[in-house]
Amino acid sequence: MNILADRFGRAFPYLRLSITDACNFRCQYCLPKGYRKTDKMSFLSVDEISRLLRTFAGLGMTKVRLTGGEPTLRRDLCEIATHAAAIPSVKTIALTTNGYSLKKNAKAYFDAGINALNVSIDSSSPDKFFAITGHDKLRLVQEGIAAAEEAGFKKIKINSVLIKGFNDGELTDFLAYIKNSDTSIRFIELMRTGDNQEYFAAHHLSSEIIIAQLLELGFSAVPRQFDAGPAIEYQHRDYLGKIGIIAPYSKDFCKTCNRLRVTARGKLMLCLFGEGGFDLRPFLQSDDQIQELQDEILAALNFKVQSHHLQMGQTGTTQNLAALGG
Ligand code: SAM
Ligand code: SF4
Repeated sequence: MNILADRFGRAFPYLRLSITDACNFRCQYCLPKGYRKTDKMSFLSVDEISRLLRTFAGLGMTKVRLTGGEPTLRRDLCEIATHAAAIPSVKTIALTTNGYSLKKNAKAYFDAGINALNVSIDSSSPDKFFAITGHDKLRLVQEGIAAAEEAGFKKIKINSVLIKGFNDGELTDFLAYIKNSDTSIRFIELMRTGDNQEYFAAHHLSSEIIIAQLLELGFSAVPRQFDAGPAIEYQHRDYLGKIGIIAPYSKDFCKTCNRLRVTARGKLMLCLFGEGGFDLRPFLQSDDQIQELQDEILAALNFKVQSHHLQMGQTGTTQNLAALGG
């Protein structure tokens, strides 16, 4: 069987699929002016997504993350998840969400087959949450997490972008949260994109600073599984939860890359910060094209480069992560 692997020995069992560019939040580093529709082309349909997932599964994909934009804005999210869940070799169906609709819909998501959840919360202060997202909804999101736990989701992860001068003093609050909760909080270093150059210059903070604080407090790095992705986790025997660090500017970050991305309009992106992309949509129109689609994906993989060039300010064609699926 052909599998998704590149010429640098990396395998890609993990697909991050954006199902919409649209978002209802206005995160300062992502869509500070809110979502604006850029073209008339529609997002992939459920049929196109189903074909895409079956094709990737035939090439060894075992985990798919539904993301966006805000994936929960799609009314057919549960239908999409049901299609993914119907593929026996796909073991993990993950969702990354701003949490806005979890309180209402967590159970429906779980029942549809979604079995891993990441919720983005950049601050545990309601005022700061409002300032960063444009919505006074921290409480709603927290209630959504509780609803998700009740619905059956295990080990919910919290994504939190590290923002200098904004949430860099909140480590104690985050640690208090994981003391008795088996949650993993993922600190993501702010990434420079085409749209956020000034914001990045003012607010980028190296995760080294947080790592130093964690080590000082007695946390230690969890030994990596051989197939783990780029997050490095830290644990402490007095804390039930863990802290993960995602540091895209660190040396060797790309060595552990295990994922490919497809945009909401069907472009295969080999790297979050790559150029162009490979248009898969023409090959998603009928089940008879699955072999052709597999060949196209495998051929594209020959162009995956060893590392991004973010350090040199090369952000590729990514204007914001909402457009690509963060
Ligand atoms: N809307 C959903 C959400 O916010 O969880 C899913 C899409 S969002 C693009 C996925 C993740 O990317 C979020 O955790 C968000 O905070 C993060 N993100 C967005 N822009 C980023 C940037 N420039 N640097 C680092 N992380 C970013
Ligand atoms: Fe929307 Fe997520 Fe971007 Fe925030 S980070 S604006 S919630 S897509």
